[in-house]
Amino acid sequence: MSTWRTYPFSWVPAAGQRHATAAPGWCHGERVVALCGAGVEAVDSAQAWLWWTCPRCDVKAHELAGVPMPGSGPVVVSRWAGVW
Ligand SMILES: [Zn+2]
Repeated sequence: MSTWRTYPFSWVPAAGQRHATAAPGWCHGERVVALCGAGVEAVDSAQAWLWWTCPRCDVKAHELAGVPMPGSGPVVVSRWAGVW
């Protein structure tokens, strides 16, 4: 398992959702604390990676990455608005 990560969190499928955790690593069956605060048991299976993303972990992950959530940024109004 590599310890290098792009961001200070990892995605972890658990409890039927794709959560994120600040834990440096996890193994199948390991209990981790997700960014949303839930204590969950990690599931490493091909299907698990397709689970729905936990919305609270998604928001926290975007905050940690310094990337705004899609649609959450300031509304950019083109200075050409109304011209066309
Ligand atoms: Zn979560």
